[in-house]
Amino acid sequence: MKNTQNKSKLLLDIINEKCPKCAQGFVFTRTSSLIKLPVMHYKCENCAYIFEREPGYFLGAMYISYGLSVLQGIVAFLLINAAIPTLPIYLKSLITIGVILLCGRKNYKMSRVIYIHIFPW
Ligand SMILES: [Zn+2]
Repeated sequence: MKNTQNKSKLLLDIINEKCPKCAQGFVFTRTSSLIKLPVMHYKCENCAYIFEREPGYFLGAMYISYGLSVLQGIVAFLLINAAIPTLPIYLKSLITIGVILLCGRKNYKMSRVIYIHIFPW
């Protein structure tokens, strides 16, 4: 029971982009711009946990971002295919690519947050 609560809390912390150590501070700065790349805090505002422990630390997050994009593409394609089966394949593919591009900003953030939760120090 407690293990399930810990897992759901971890999932909520990742979705809410919280610090892996204290779960209070935010990993990213709050911006309303949809065009700019998200900016990470250097360290947690609450517990001073340093997010990027060394240069190039987040290279591994690219693999997570890739996995998220593939998953979103597969789900989007299957949903489009189920909703409109007569749509030509090139339009289904274009819509799928559009969905992946729209989710890119969130993927960028989620992959880094997942990475620091997987490999905390
Ligand atoms: Zn913290």
